Amino acid sequence: MPSKTALNPPKGECRQCWLHAYDSRAQHKHLGPREDCPECVAHMNGHPAHLIVR
Ligand SMILES: [Zn+2]
Ligand SMILES: [Zn+2]
Repeated sequence: MPSKTALNPPKGECRQCWLHAYDSRAQHKHLGPREDCPECVAHMNGHPAHLIVR
């Protein structure tokens, strides 16, 4: 279960990236040790507007 912080990004933050940063272990547990998280990689060049907290 993600922590309260992980589920409550502040304004201007990307919900997905915030969750992956604060609940990293759980969000990335399906990945191998040298595997990049596809969701995080997809956001490396920018975050979709609908995921940004307003
Ligand atoms: Zn993002
Ligand atoms: Zn990730």
